[in-house]
Amino acid sequence: MAVAYANERVQFGQAIGNFGAIQYKLAEMAIRNFAAESAAYRTSQCMQDKKAEESAEGKSFGQATLESAEEYAIECSILKVYGSEVTDYCVDENLQIHGGIGFSEEYPAARAYRDSRINRIYEGTNEINRMLMVDQLFKRALKGQLDIVGPAWAVQKELTSMPSMERLEGDYAQEIKAVSDFKKVILMVAGGAAKMQMDGKLNLKEEQEVLMNCADMFIDLYAAESMLLRVQKLVGMKKEQPQEVYDAMLQVFIHDATARMTRNATDALASFAEGDLLKTFLLGVKRFTKYPPVNVKVKRRLVAEALRKAGGWCF
Ligand SMILES: Cc1cc2nc3c(=O)[nH]c(=O)nc-3n(C[C@H](O)[C@H](O)[C@H](O)COP(=O)(O)OP(=O)(O)OC[C@H]3O[C@@H](n4cnc5c(N)ncnc54)[C@H](O)[C@@H]3O)c2cc1C
Repeated sequence: MAVAYANERVQFGQAIGNFGAIQYKLAEMAIRNFAAESAAYRTSQCMQDKKAEESAEGKSFGQATLESAEEYAIECSILKVYGSEVTDYCVDENLQIHGGIGFSEEYPAARAYRDSRINRIYEGTNEINRMLMVDQLFKRALKGQLDIVGPAWAVQKELTSMPSMERLEGDYAQEIKAVSDFKKVILMVAGGAAKMQMDGKLNLKEEQEVLMNCADMFIDLYAAESMLLRVQKLVGMKKEQPQEVYDAMLQVFIHDATARMTRNATDALASFAEGDLLKTFLLGVKRFTKYPPVNVKVKRRLVAEALRKAGGWCF
């Protein structure tokens, strides 16, 4: 709807879709949607595989369904929160692209704007789902189902060593490294918080702001990794757009996610650590958020051009 209107509406003697400000919106809507879709495809396949595995072991359909949902509860919370927030972003920017008539209830942009809003409230509000993500992670760690202490300890050790000067080689090497580094940032923050909790210096139940920061980092990591896996898979496959358009979406997403990771990690760490410990943690954040700057203007224009040529969604 937004692409069609941007192609059609003329202001100052040209289609509004020619303006960089509008191209930014079109591209960003597509990038976030592509990220959410990648995460949804990935989770659906994982759940389907788990269900098939459980069924093959003789579990009933109901039991196999329940167990696969339980296994991927964290991912499902991520999808619910991220999907509803991407939708809200898209309907809001769609209305903005429609200008004054977008605000009028007689046009579908206004209806989409209103109808979308409920998604952040029902099926577990997004605040409750954010808390569930972190809660589930810690519960699994405590039950021994998931080792976060070992990897968190490895990150601590890495922090005290010299940064490696290795040259990154191979396709998507920077993106693979960025995603791996996002995991290190999360392990540092979540590991640091868990240690404080065990030492009795922190009660995470009373620190919802920190939980929200952690949840937002989980979302960015899962979306970035899912998008990377999808874009890598598309290499050499028959697809609607040249690979450089998919690459552009991935690069813009990781560029922006890196900035969000830095902010969320810094906010969380400064909420529970201080002095030399905080300084060490912040050096870690700096070390693990080094994705090289991307010319996001050029990349977004490329994505917007593909959308405008196709007259709508084209990925
Ligand atoms: C159109 C519509 C359809 C619905 N359909 C269904 C349905 O089919 N089945 C069904 O069971 N329900 C349904 N609901 C209910 C919906 O699930 C609830 O509205 C939702 O769970 C939020 O509960 P609440 O409205 O009581 O808000 P509250 O629980 O009062 O929440 C208000 C705010 O406080 C926040 N909050 C609450 N507790 C905490 C906490 N512990 N920590 C931090 N923040 C907190 C919430 O995130 C929210 O932002 C529907 C609601 C609507 C509007």
